[in-house]
Parts: sequence; structure tokens; C-alpha cells
Amino acid sequence: EVNALVAQQGDSGDIELAHQRVDESFLPDGAVEIDVAYSSVNYKDALAVTPKGGVARDYPLIPGIDIAGTVRASTSADFSVGDAVVAHGRDIGTARHGGYAEVARVPADLVVRLDGLTTAEAAAIGTAGYTAAMSVERLISYGITPDDGPVLVTGASGGVGSVSVDLLAGAGYEVVASTGTDSAHELLRALGAAQVIGRVPPEGEKVRALGKAQWAAAVDCVGGTTLAYIASTLRYEGVVAASGLAGGADLPTTVHPFILRGVTLAGIDSVQQTIDRRRALWARLGDDLKPRHLDAVTTEVDVAALPGTLRTILSGAVTGRTRVRVAGG
Ligand code: NAP
Repeated sequence: EVNALVAQQGDSGDIELAHQRVDESFLPDGAVEIDVAYSSVNYKDALAVTPKGGVARDYPLIPGIDIAGTVRASTSADFSVGDAVVAHGRDIGTARHGGYAEVARVPADLVVRLDGLTTAEAAAIGTAGYTAAMSVERLISYGITPDDGPVLVTGASGGVGSVSVDLLAGAGYEVVASTGTDSAHELLRALGAAQVIGRVPPEGEKVRALGKAQWAAAVDCVGGTTLAYIASTLRYEGVVAASGLAGGADLPTTVHPFILRGVTLAGIDSVQQTIDRRRALWARLGDDLKPRHLDAVTTEVDVAALPGTLRTILSGAVTGRTRVRVAGG
């Protein structure tokens, strides 16, 4: 038996979270069995335990879209007992049991051997930090360099946002951090933001088809009017890496930024990405793209504290990344 946090849906549609001991047969099949040391809390983990959150396919579910730990058994030749690994993506924590349990079983093609990172660091990065790295890598692939001008990061106090600020500042970019969280200003400056501003569009300002061109590029996990505002204020041939919907799933924009300023809307998806690209980017996260201030953005909680933390993240009340200590640590 293993200790697990299990989400169950009641007849009324409510979702109950309970710490349980489950039989190992409760876990799905998977070539790699992992002793989970850490998981984390992402926005998506909260959605997975929200009625009509649109993320979980079925209950009962052990949530936790991030798994970091050591291999305890493997039928895949690619992994040996004792390997330090991270696994995330595809259906982990949404349609198959995830990281909020002492043991997880996952397919080998979702597992990444850690190089240059501890399991604690990998969980602190997690899906949100990985998505930040994908966003930064994408801007670079479009040829955006520090000489091009300021890069805007929205939702900057959150997981994707804070790691993006850290990574971009570390790579020499002039980062403008946009946040609705006053208490995060000091942290964002410590991460290397050159300027910290409020949420965009600024209150009372309407999004125009084309606004004043300000940013060479942007990393956005907010979506909605925020993303529309970014599109309308990017400089000529600017790029926005868009990964999220914390502020809304609609996109009330026009074609003008795209056809008159050559703006690029670059979509970021960490869920279905191929394992080769996933392993390559994790290798960079342990090397040249290693976040410089991971400890500063990370809060650690015990899995026992989880129901509460999951409830607060959707309200935007959680700053930075939350690592979850599952077992041993
Ligand atoms: P998070 O830690 O909660 O960060 C989201 C941030 O967005 C908040 O900290 C807040 O920042 C801002 N925000 C929240 N509600 C807002 C609102 N109503 N209007 C404007 N800003 C708001 O969440 P996360 O784990 O970083 O995830 C962020 C988003 O990215 C989510 O939508 C998530 O689903 C998505 N995501 C997508 C992928 C992918 O593969 N595409 C991967 C990971 C995450 P401030 O208070 O600083 O403004």
C-alpha cells in the first residue's frame, strides 16, 4: 500500500480530497515505477480538482501533474533503479494518476533522467517552470536578442511568470514584469526585472487595434484582454509566447498587429511535446538555462497541506512556485 491524495467526485458534483492508503494495484501500468520525492502545485492541478475545471478526465484521481523522484523499478532499458528522474505531460495528473502519491507508474516516454538538477530542483521548476523555459526558448528561436528591447512578462508573480523573469534576466534581457500582486514587486526585482508594472491593460485603458509599440517580445500566461493588449503593443515583428488562460480563454484582438506590424503569436504547449524535445530542454534547464533564483521563488509544503494550497492558487494568491514534499524528500 502507498500513501496518496485521492480526489473523488461526489453525487452533487463536488470534489473531495482525502489522504488515503491505496493498494499498489490502484496505480496504472507503466514501464517506470518511481519513488516520488516531490511534486508541485500548478494552476492545472487546481483545475483538476475543480468541478467542471475541464482538466481531469475521470475520478478517482491522484492529482499532481509533476513527478520527481528516483526509479524504484523499470521494465524499460532506458532507466535503471536509482536514476533521478522527472516526469510530466500528456495525461499525468489528469487522466492517469500523478505525483501526489509515494509511488507513481508512468510510460518510459514521459520520463526524463535528471542531469544537473536535483529532484527538489526539478519539482520546483515543474511544468510551470518548464513552460517558462519553452517560452524563452521560442523567443530566442525567433531571433529575439537582448539588443532588441524590453520583454514583457505577464502574470509575473505566478509560476510560469516568475521563472520566465528569472530565465530572461539571466539571459541578459531587459525584463518588464507585469503583476497584480503588490507584495511580489521586491521578489521580481530580485529576480532581475528592470521594471515592475501593474497588470495590463492598465485599468481604464481600452485595447486598441494598434497601441504604442513598446515590447520586443512577451511571455504571457494570462490570455484574454491581456494577450490582446500585448499583441497591440508589441514592436514591429515582435513575438509573444502564449501559454495560458489565467485571465481568460477569449482573445479579443484584431488582425492589425499581425498584418501591419508583422507580430507573431507563438503558442506554447508543454503537454503533447515529444519526449526528445522534452529531454533536450530539461538538459538545458540543468545547464545554460538553469534558473538562477529557484530557491527565492519556491515555497515548500508537505503533501498533507495540499487541499488548502490547491484552493488558493486559482484565486491568484500563490506567489512563485510551490513544491510539494511527498515522501522522504
Ligand atoms: P499561477 O502560478 O497561478 O500564475 C498565474 C498568474 O496569473 C497569477 O500569479 C497572477 O499573476 C496572474 N493572474 C491570475 N488571475 C488573473 C486574472 N484574472 N487576470 C490577470 N492575471 C491573473 O499559474 P501557473 O501554474 O504559472 O500557470 C499559469 C497559466 O499558464 C495557467 O493558465 C496554466 O494553465 C497555463 N499553463 C500552460 C501550460 C502549457 O503547456 N500551455 C503549461 C503550464 C501552465 P500576477 O498577480 O502577478 O498578475
